[in-house]
Amino acid sequence: MNNKISVFSGVIFLSFASAFATAKDFTVSNFSQYQQAVDKLQPGDRLLLGDGEWRDVELVFSGKGTEKQPITLAAANPGNAIITGRSNLKLAGEHLVVRGLVFKDGYTPSDAVISFRTAKPASESDYSTVAVNTRLTEIVIDDFSNPDRYETDYWVSIYGKNNRIDHNHFSYKRNKGVTMAVRLDTVHSRENHHKIEYNYFGPRPVLGSNGGETLRIGTSHFSLTDSFTTVAHNYFDRCDGEVEIISNKSGKNVIKNNVFFESRGTLTLRHGNGNLVEGNAFIGNGVDHTGGIRVINANQVVKNNFMSGLTGSRFGGGLVVMNGVPNSPINRYHQVKNSVISDNTLLNVDRIIFGAGSDEERSAAPVDTRFVNNTVINDSGESPFELHDSVSGIEFEGNKANFSVDEALASGFSLVKSVEKPEYDLPIEKSEVGVSWYPKPEKNTLLSVAKKMKVESGTDTVIDAYQQLESGAEMVLGEGDFHFSKTLLLDKPLVLRGQGKEKTRITFSRKSLVDLKNGGSLRLQDLSISGVRAPDDKANAVIRSDSAPMTKNFVLELVGVAVSDLDINKDFDVIKLRKSTFADHVLVENSTFNNIKGSVLKLDSERDDYGMYNAEYVTVKNSTVTNATGGLMVVYRGGTDESTFGPHVYMDGVTVTASPTPKNGEASVLLHGVQRGLIKNSHFKNSAPILVQHTVGGPVIRIEDNQYSHKPLFKVESVVPGMESTFTAENNNISE
Ligand code: CA
Repeated sequence: MNNKISVFSGVIFLSFASAFATAKDFTVSNFSQYQQAVDKLQPGDRLLLGDGEWRDVELVFSGKGTEKQPITLAAANPGNAIITGRSNLKLAGEHLVVRGLVFKDGYTPSDAVISFRTAKPASESDYSTVAVNTRLTEIVIDDFSNPDRYETDYWVSIYGKNNRIDHNHFSYKRNKGVTMAVRLDTVHSRENHHKIEYNYFGPRPVLGSNGGETLRIGTSHFSLTDSFTTVAHNYFDRCDGEVEIISNKSGKNVIKNNVFFESRGTLTLRHGNGNLVEGNAFIGNGVDHTGGIRVINANQVVKNNFMSGLTGSRFGGGLVVMNGVPNSPINRYHQVKNSVISDNTLLNVDRIIFGAGSDEERSAAPVDTRFVNNTVINDSGESPFELHDSVSGIEFEGNKANFSVDEALASGFSLVKSVEKPEYDLPIEKSEVGVSWYPKPEKNTLLSVAKKMKVESGTDTVIDAYQQLESGAEMVLGEGDFHFSKTLLLDKPLVLRGQGKEKTRITFSRKSLVDLKNGGSLRLQDLSISGVRAPDDKANAVIRSDSAPMTKNFVLELVGVAVSDLDINKDFDVIKLRKSTFADHVLVENSTFNNIKGSVLKLDSERDDYGMYNAEYVTVKNSTVTNATGGLMVVYRGGTDESTFGPHVYMDGVTVTASPTPKNGEASVLLHGVQRGLIKNSHFKNSAPILVQHTVGGPVIRIEDNQYSHKPLFKVESVVPGMESTFTAENNNISE
């Protein structure tokens, strides 16, 4: 018996040995060695990139392996081959494996960092330029972002068939373009059966434009083609780029057992039929604009998903079933038909919408669709349901809720009185995806600073101290006069905290006090700033964003700050954000502004009407503005696409005097294309009106409980004729 086994194992061993007898490892340490080796690769061979930096390399990896003996491109030591600079990787052939490479500190010179083809195939039968049966695994792409924020590229462009993309780490894509795209543009890439699994899709900051999707499968043009792509066990961590986290635009895909953690936007079944969305978890934790699933098209199945703490509204709601366009063109909205939404659990989801987008064009309400055995629990006891059109084409049955639902749905629901929250385990944990050897980012804020230091008054004392810093800091400024003879070029987080508006005083003698560079964020607190020593020049500003595009979002905060004497002959704003730069938030609180030859907040440099803008959240509270010729704020978001959440503007307890006077200016507050705005408890004295210009996207602007001395308080204009206005004004009172 023993003898038999040993003979048998011996045979196995020999057959292995002979099969791999010719397999070789080629370890290379520079690009020319790489190029020599890559052409020689035979099935079973491995091409290993040595440790260190691989700068400005365009790697083409092609070859024909076999199922048992793939050809491998890997880091000799996973994580130690760092691809930087202007670099990319193109794959072609079959049975390839790519493993363990890190892309950081650079960007692709072409349209993708990693592409599963080297060129568009020359004919339908020619697969020589496309990768099939290929695995991409343990790859890290971290902030490999084009320095021009609105230059478009993909990080992973998947073509071919039967490819597996697993256990990769993708974080901080900051420029325009989908992080990962499954492309169906030739027959070589349709009905592809790709598997995208166990990947870590890390933070994708708000882009402030269309083109911030994390994963797209197909495009509208080929959307009636089946893709057969499986997306399973991935973790989407704070993927906030735009309203679509996943944009599904093809048929027969399976999106299963993924986690969407505090991610703004939704999984959108935008185009294509017959998709399955099952067993996913959407954990919003009450974060703004967190959404769930948006259903469009026919034969879709949405079952057994878990949703919790989702705040999204409109197309970004927790569960949204859209209206279609009758005989829709391929790129518009196909009617929801023959679809099933069942066995889902929705806890504290703010909005569940049927017939979303109903208007003159989108008039086809869902038909032959079932909403069954779902459980909807809201701690508030309020119904999250919104019916924007007829639900007669949807059958409701066997659902549970802890609140009384609309009459049109009532027969399909039973009331659950004692709320017992279901136990729930996430389908995948963050620690189980991506790679173990590269850290996953924890939560932090852009103004997190560890170091604290004191700086005394004098000329350039702050700049001198700043230049010694290796990372951000809080500087506590003493009493007295701080003069800046140079502009502070800020590329790190900085807090400047004085002793009070009268006690710590800042002046400067250049066109700006601070220019923000990539990586910079700023908070000014308890101090005063005077423009009295600034030059009489045009386009001065106390704080400006960079004149070059910035990929990194930033925050700006002025708390307890007095700004005065920006009253030169030409123009002088307090905060001016320039083109292709984007603030996550701008906060002004307990501050005063006097004699400003410009605007306090000038956030309008994206005038091309391409749907970009300068700041996501703009908040002004408990402050006064007097004699600002350009008004308190100018916020501009042009264009008609519906891909962004913001801008948001919130104003509370602000006194605006002669900023500008009614006859000398167009607006004290200009909101163009602002998506959400609230102006309340404010006092407008001898000032031009608030000007609200609606563009698109169902904006919600409210003006409430304000006082004003001159009519009108506000003007509302619609840039797109016939658009539904969601503007409201209440309880505003005229007084002297
Ligand atoms: Ca989009």
